[in-house]
Amino acid sequence: MTKAVGHQVGTACPLDCPDSCSLSVSLSDGRVVALDGGHANPVTGGYICGKVRRFGDRMYGPDRLLQPGFRLGPPGSGEFRWVSWDEALARVADAMREARDGWGAESVLPYCYGGSNGLLTQDTADARLFRRFGASRLARTLCASTTGAANQALYGKMPSVSYADYAHAKLIIIWGANPSASGIHLVPFIRDAQRAGATLVVVDPRATPLARLAGLHLALRPGTDVAVALALHRHLFEHGLADEAFLAAHTTGASQLRERAREWTFERAASVAGLEPGAIARLADMYATASPAVIRCGWGLERNRNGGSAAAAILALPAVAGKFGVRGGGYTLSNSASWGITKSWIGAEEPPARLVNMNHLGRMLTGPIDPPVKVLFVYNCNPLATVPHQNLVRQGLEREDLTTIVFDQVMTDTARYADIVLPATTFLEQYDLARAYGPISLQIVRPVVDAIGEARPNVDVFAELEQRLGLDQTGEPRDEVEMMLRVIEGLPEGVGQAVRADAPAAPPFGTAPVQFVDVFPCTPDGKVHLFPDDLDRQAPLGLYAYQPDPATDRYPLALISPSNEKAISSSLYELVHRTAALSIHPDDAHAREIGEGDTVKVFNEMGTVTCHAAVSPTVRPGTVSLPKGLWGRHTLNGSTANALTPDTLTDIGAGACFNDARVQVERVAGGAGRGTASAAAGADPVERQAPGLLH
Ligand code: SF4
Repeated sequence: MTKAVGHQVGTACPLDCPDSCSLSVSLSDGRVVALDGGHANPVTGGYICGKVRRFGDRMYGPDRLLQPGFRLGPPGSGEFRWVSWDEALARVADAMREARDGWGAESVLPYCYGGSNGLLTQDTADARLFRRFGASRLARTLCASTTGAANQALYGKMPSVSYADYAHAKLIIIWGANPSASGIHLVPFIRDAQRAGATLVVVDPRATPLARLAGLHLALRPGTDVAVALALHRHLFEHGLADEAFLAAHTTGASQLRERAREWTFERAASVAGLEPGAIARLADMYATASPAVIRCGWGLERNRNGGSAAAAILALPAVAGKFGVRGGGYTLSNSASWGITKSWIGAEEPPARLVNMNHLGRMLTGPIDPPVKVLFVYNCNPLATVPHQNLVRQGLEREDLTTIVFDQVMTDTARYADIVLPATTFLEQYDLARAYGPISLQIVRPVVDAIGEARPNVDVFAELEQRLGLDQTGEPRDEVEMMLRVIEGLPEGVGQAVRADAPAAPPFGTAPVQFVDVFPCTPDGKVHLFPDDLDRQAPLGLYAYQPDPATDRYPLALISPSNEKAISSSLYELVHRTAALSIHPDDAHAREIGEGDTVKVFNEMGTVTCHAAVSPTVRPGTVSLPKGLWGRHTLNGSTANALTPDTLTDIGAGACFNDARVQVERVAGGAGRGTASAAAGADPVERQAPGLLH
């Protein structure tokens, strides 16, 4: 990496990561030459992840989009004729008008997710434009809709235990999360707690870095978290260990939860989850007796048919066991709701247009849908890499009668299929507001360099499109600076003033609330709802029911696709240049005569991924793992894990079931690395040797 030179300026990271680090950016001759952690956000502690350290490679790299373009070759070719913004936006506006006139406004589908997670880059001028236009609405369900629905129903999204308070805990349970890859600033607090005598438990199918340091690791089968959590509840209820006084005073639905947990003996849960009964019993004993005890509920556990019931059962544990009311006790999920932000700044009502679940993009683009999608407007998102049923999505993007617009920073897999590409600024070239969802923090993101090429911020482009379509109104923010001021004005009392003054912003309860001391459930009656009726109605077999594993004799292996330390979902994967490796347990590899580094095909009835094998006991037997968010260039046949993931939905919250993919694996050819224990053939694609931060 290039050594830091020149002067340093501060900003913050708004990417889709829980931490929202403050950043110190080194500049020389108007270019970014290095990024490191700042100190404005105390949680950052002066360090950042390796992904964002290399962000300059994205800004100045060969994949950066510098100008608008019209596609020349066939869809997927990535060949473009570069044009002016005026030409490009005229064509976008024409396409939207033609679609509306011919098929109705709902034939335009805006499609965005957390590619840039700041408050300005999504749900500002974009939402105003598409609402006024009457476009189809998008249910953003790719991640967190399932855990979010459970957290909302049980607690009204009560603010979570802060990272710093993990240092006070005597028992820490990391359930379905890998803080070493995402939300890295939690790790030092966990290590501090361990040094002070706390026990760490990790519940995860993989031996994550923290699992290897844990006192107990439950490497359960994907999709069985609900069974394990209910076995803990049964133990608490049946052995007089439930906090009956707390349940009576602060909860509803305890008796129904108890009833649903009754069948889940340690033996039954262990049989379903592929664990030893004694291991679950050990966790149950620890959780019943330790205080403070905290659960970090992650997002890995939601990505299956039982994800909503699992999240609800896990979140219910601190209420049943009476773990609230002490510093370092309770649960952590997302803190995004802690600020009470209502997005009043959008300034346009949602129309009664159809609501499209983003997990069903392939169906929407290929099925007999009325009206059909005629214009797909993708921004902050790379759906060909990140959405289930990849081959159906690709088939849809190949449609000749579909106009696809992609507004992005780099030439993503999806952008290669676009009819029109529009270059977007990165967070180092624009204003934004970074709201963390791990720690509680809110910071201004400032441009530290001029926009590269002709890239423009989201707000400016959507506001101009609004004008071109005759949907603008006087007095409204028309560029990112005006919009930022409007957003700051719309923040809750006191918060906006602090942000504007560049002072540390905090909600009234501070940034390290103790649950049931400083913060309480935000449900209408202020109680914890342990058996919300609406969740019971939503779940196909009822709340806390276990739907069996979808494995078959033909496709017996569970494929998971977790995040890793190389990329943020699919963002920044353009900087990774090695072929991906499938992690497979030695027993499964041996049964298939697969050796380290061999070329393998991973397949089911939906598709095939050809890649290398990494034979490793870090993944449990019966489960294989490919990294989340890979691009086509990272495999030998251009398909990634999502070519194998079904577009079925979770029991609650209509989320994605990435971890319900069931596959078979076969050896195709021997590999150069066969028989070696090379770290480079690990689960994640390995970075090329960087020629320096900047080109
Ligand atoms: S991605 Fe996360 S850890 Fe990395 S700089 Fe951004 S907020 Fe910090």
